[in-house]
Amino acid sequence: MAVPKKRHTKSRRNKRRSHHALGKVSLSLCPKCKEPILPHHFCLFCGTYKGREVIDVMAKLTKKEKKKKEKEMAKKEEAKRPEEGKKAKPLSLEELSKK
Ligand SMILES: [Zn+2]
Repeated sequence: MAVPKKRHTKSRRNKRRSHHALGKVSLSLCPKCKEPILPHHFCLFCGTYKGREVIDVMAKLTKKEKKKKEKEMAKKEEAKRPEEGKKAKPLSLEELSKK
């Protein structure tokens, strides 16, 4: 068996290992539920890809898990609504003053 003639120094070893660091994982946000997702992958939370549903995320869940998931999804929907609500309120007041 081939055997190294001389041992490599710490410096040489560390220089070799300077390229071994792991890079950051790039994440984007799901356009539907704003959950972080891997690029070119479907959303694991809501099962959509490019805005259309590709898997049914509710299919394999138990009754208890389904209830929990529905609650989370409703929460996300509510998080989107306040912006719409703020826009809707002034409009309704204007409409009231007109009448
Ligand atoms: Zn999603």
